[in-house]
Amino acid sequence: MTTSNKIGIIVKAISGFYYVKTDDGVFECKARGNFRHSKVSPIVGDRVDFSVTGQNCGVLENIQPRKNSLTRPAIANIDKIFIVSSYENPAPDTYLIDRLTAMAVFNGIKPIIVFNKSDVGDFEVFDRIYKNAGFKTYVVSAKKPETLKLLKDEFKNCICAMAGNSGVGKSSLINALFDEFALKTGEVSIALGRGRHTTRHTELYENSMGGLIADTPGFSSVVQVENILEFKEKLAYCFEDFLPYIDCKFTSCNHTCEVGCGVLAAVNAGKIQKSRHDSYVALFNELKDINCWNVQKG
Ligand code: GDP
Ligand code: ZN
Repeated sequence: MTTSNKIGIIVKAISGFYYVKTDDGVFECKARGNFRHSKVSPIVGDRVDFSVTGQNCGVLENIQPRKNSLTRPAIANIDKIFIVSSYENPAPDTYLIDRLTAMAVFNGIKPIIVFNKSDVGDFEVFDRIYKNAGFKTYVVSAKKPETLKLLKDEFKNCICAMAGNSGVGKSSLINALFDEFALKTGEVSIALGRGRHTTRHTELYENSMGGLIADTPGFSSVVQVENILEFKEKLAYCFEDFLPYIDCKFTSCNHTCEVGCGVLAAVNAGKIQKSRHDSYVALFNELKDINCWNVQKG
């Protein structure tokens, strides 16, 4: 039999089988033996080359270079992360938002800030903080479809994930944006980590904008970085709104309380949002005692 090569994206991985989405449907693939000896194992989000061995099945041949990858959950090539907060139950937590934005930037993922439940209150103060800090923001209500049009466009042709505390409306938003998920009840409807499936695996769901949304158990509120020491080193650079002002008297400046700090001067001049800097200091303090001796692996 002649085999042909194809490319696709792994959308699900279970017990040694990889489900690869292509323009011609999903193929169930096994990894070639030699993958077991290489350091890289295929994960959800990987762009792969595979050979077709039968009807809708194949063998993975190659994993294309990754743009980024996370381990918990194991997922590669995320383009955007929607960081969702709500007006109430729970109220916005700027420290959580800022930790998640820093983590996203560190991993090369674009953070998008979403304020949900605009039907019950206004977000002017928060929206201004994040717009001034240079983020793309959306003020929406899952209960008002007319507020969702622009946000929906953000899902076009990309791999994305949702993050934010439980109760902010992540599932409600997905269901309001994409009826196809809501209609899936009975099967596995997308539920962002709380699905009917008891075995926890990450899966990418195709949406009507030609994008893929990760259903990622455990993603919501953790600062997730592979290399915490590197994150600690680069922390100030993960607050991109600080970048124009990182021009301090001492090169060793931590930008927390030092004399001659350009970042602090910008905070005092109102050029950097104070809450952003407060979050930076809190995160800096959380990370400062981590060193190569006590860093937790796994
Ligand atoms: P998740 O835990 O982030 O997935 O949040 P859910 O989607 O389960 O929503 C939590 C609660 O908030 C539910 O009771 C929703 O009905 C409610 N909710 C979600 N979006 C909105 C909204 O835009 N406005 C209001 N008033 N309630 C909402
Ligand atoms: Zn400084």
